[in-house]
Amino acid sequence: MADATGFLKHERALPPRRPVDVRILDWKDVYLSRESGEDEVFPVDAVRQQAARCMDCGIPFCHHGCPLGNLIPEWNDLARRDDWGDAIERLHATNNFPEFTGKLCPAPCEGSCVLNLQESPVTIKQIEWEIIDQAFMQGTVSPQPPQERTGKKVAVIGSGPAGLAAAQQLTRAGHDVTVYERADRVGGLLRYGIPEFKMEKRLLDRRLDQMRAEGTRFVTGVEVGGSGEDDLSADQLRAEYDAVVLAGGATVGRDLPAPGRELGGIHLAMEYLPFGNRQALGELDEPPITAEGKHVVIIGGGDTGADCLGTAHRQGAASVTQLEIMPAPPDRRDAGSNPWPTYPLIMRVSSAHEEGGERLYAVNTERFLGDGQGNVRALLLNEVERVDGRFEKVEGTERELKAELVLLAMGFTGAQREGLVEALGAEVDGRGNVVRDADFMSTVPGVFVAGDMGRGQSLIVWAIAEGRSAAGAADSWLTGDSMLPRPVTPTAVPLR
Ligand SMILES: Cc1cc2nc3c(=O)[nH]c(=O)nc-3n(C[C@H](O)[C@H](O)[C@H](O)COP(=O)(O)OP(=O)(O)OC[C@H]3O[C@@H](n4cnc5c(N)ncnc54)[C@H](O)[C@@H]3O)c2cc1C
Ligand code: SF4
Repeated sequence: MADATGFLKHERALPPRRPVDVRILDWKDVYLSRESGEDEVFPVDAVRQQAARCMDCGIPFCHHGCPLGNLIPEWNDLARRDDWGDAIERLHATNNFPEFTGKLCPAPCEGSCVLNLQESPVTIKQIEWEIIDQAFMQGTVSPQPPQERTGKKVAVIGSGPAGLAAAQQLTRAGHDVTVYERADRVGGLLRYGIPEFKMEKRLLDRRLDQMRAEGTRFVTGVEVGGSGEDDLSADQLRAEYDAVVLAGGATVGRDLPAPGRELGGIHLAMEYLPFGNRQALGELDEPPITAEGKHVVIIGGGDTGADCLGTAHRQGAASVTQLEIMPAPPDRRDAGSNPWPTYPLIMRVSSAHEEGGERLYAVNTERFLGDGQGNVRALLLNEVERVDGRFEKVEGTERELKAELVLLAMGFTGAQREGLVEALGAEVDGRGNVVRDADFMSTVPGVFVAGDMGRGQSLIVWAIAEGRSAAGAADSWLTGDSMLPRPVTPTAVPLR
């Protein structure tokens, strides 16, 4: 039984981030880790006190807010009682990788927590992180190999969170699973999109160790459907495997076809960020694209833009400006258009925003201006306003903004079609996503689709939920029955 009055006794509190002037000198997590002294600034008893704020309210809206259906009130109470062994057992029951969500999830669950009616929700994400951190520290995360083998072979294409979740579920169900990844290392956007300062890659590597020990096989440097010497063709794939899970992500970046786009120094965010991640890991001394000493402009105000911002600061940018075409969101949710328990659409200050840079809202890039030598020197901007749902220029607001490096972080337009998707003959919808039915199966029998590749650009928590669900569907298709859970359907929508 939870402490029904805990929220009256304790204020919401979170661990502090490392000081800005210290953390921008390195690439490490913006939060202190236990090993480096977090225990002194935010001891485990402080987390237990936060867990005691969960009143087990009877109708836990947080369940519905979390795409994984995490059993939040149950593990909050176990954390409060210092029972970390049972807490991780309940958490792993619904989430293969709580360390990824505990670090990176925007926590829609907290938006729908009953205490968020008063804007002080339970610190669910922090408690989730603490449970898995305690579990790794206490050595209770161990490989769970299957008891029996089915003799069926499954290929998972793509090693982001969707592919990893599907692979772990299918391996544990007894199938012989191989994950193919075209990059040189496993992890998808967890490896080469999300910077080290948001989630250190050692967290990914220790989870991959567990998966290898369970029997999942990883093959890197191979593009399935690609034309390289080492690549695997779609025909080979179908011939060698009984089922396939496509989890290739939404990798086609949205471009900005404004005049001057051909100038040097203008890049898609995902051309830039992987170099930053390699630099952080000491794999590259001099990244081919760097913000060092430059005036940087990031076009796009979301997560990807914030990751470019933090990376540019660590590389020593002269200045960084982030542009967003939408108006600035409000500081507090609008109870009329965005009521509880929907996800609050409010101004958020990520760790990267704390570190500096300027944010400009309701502006549009009219053209890129060159320096006469083929490189960008500035952007020509204007302000915009919404008229009947369309952005219209506010006349007389044009101005130049100095820019020596421009990063386009305006989202993604769907899955890569050429190569595997075309070769398989899988249908793609008007939004660029691979079509799937209610069982996550594409228009090609035996080929399932999970994560951003079918859903469109989304979140890690959705990728894990879809990977788990697609695994359940594939297992059922292979064996006629399945004990694997299916937390979401392909048409599930967030509480927005
Ligand atoms: C910069 C950035 C920051 C983000 N930050 C956050 C965050 O903080 N929190 C959050 O919740 N979400 C965040 N997201 C979104 C989140 O990362 C994605 O929703 C999630 O990674 C999608 O997972 P996925 O497994 O579907 O695909 P991905 O992670 O994109 O992985 C797909 C993998 O498939 C591989 N692949 C594709 N085709 C082939 C092929 N034919 N053969 C072999 N391999 C192939 C790709 O190389 C890639 O590694 C961020 C996204 C970006 C771009
Ligand atoms: S995975 Fe995200 S939504 Fe689910 S409980 Fe964790 S922080 Fe909340």
